[in-house]
Amino acid sequence: MINLEKIYKDSGALLEGHFLLSSGKHSRYYLQSAKVLEQPKTAELLAKELANMIKQSNIKVDTVCSPALGGILAGYELARALDVRFIFVERVNSKMTLRRGFEVSKDEKILICEDIITTGGSALEASEVLQNLGAKTVGFAAIANRGFCKIYGSDEVATKECKLPKELPLFALGDFKFEVYDPDSCPMCKDGSVAIKPGSRGN
Ligand code: ZN
Repeated sequence: MINLEKIYKDSGALLEGHFLLSSGKHSRYYLQSAKVLEQPKTAELLAKELANMIKQSNIKVDTVCSPALGGILAGYELARALDVRFIFVERVNSKMTLRRGFEVSKDEKILICEDIITTGGSALEASEVLQNLGAKTVGFAAIANRGFCKIYGSDEVATKECKLPKELPLFALGDFKFEVYDPDSCPMCKDGSVAIKPGSRGN
């Protein structure tokens, strides 16, 4: 089994500091999964590992689909490792849509792939778009899971924040569980530091 935390650290994708998350909470850590995938060899290694998990589950996949933009690299590499087709959906005026001439057929078996699953909201939207077009979602995949949803084969339980359907498997290479804080009770704020928004300094 690969050491996901080491790969994130070595890639500079596991940032340590004092971060203001999009949820408004504060965290000591921030994951920048795109940094892990900037080395194609690393992306390939991770996708192969993920593909092995999926093959061992005996789930049949016709096509991998990712929600743009974050999931595309992981999904494309996973499709290569599984030797299946790859498509993506994207937001148009905030609504997830299948465009660019991509099509799905009736009962086509779709695996939705993200770089990282937090609550799984975008992955679920991607799944719904394709199911509305007649395809069938057979599972979800991600390089990393944030600990809200349950990874296939683990004996943990999903938290109430997880939006993915419980009856479908989520394949992921590991969990990153970080404590997040309300600004009022953030220990780093108490120490006098100011939370920064990841991305505001080119992250
Ligand atoms: Zn804080």
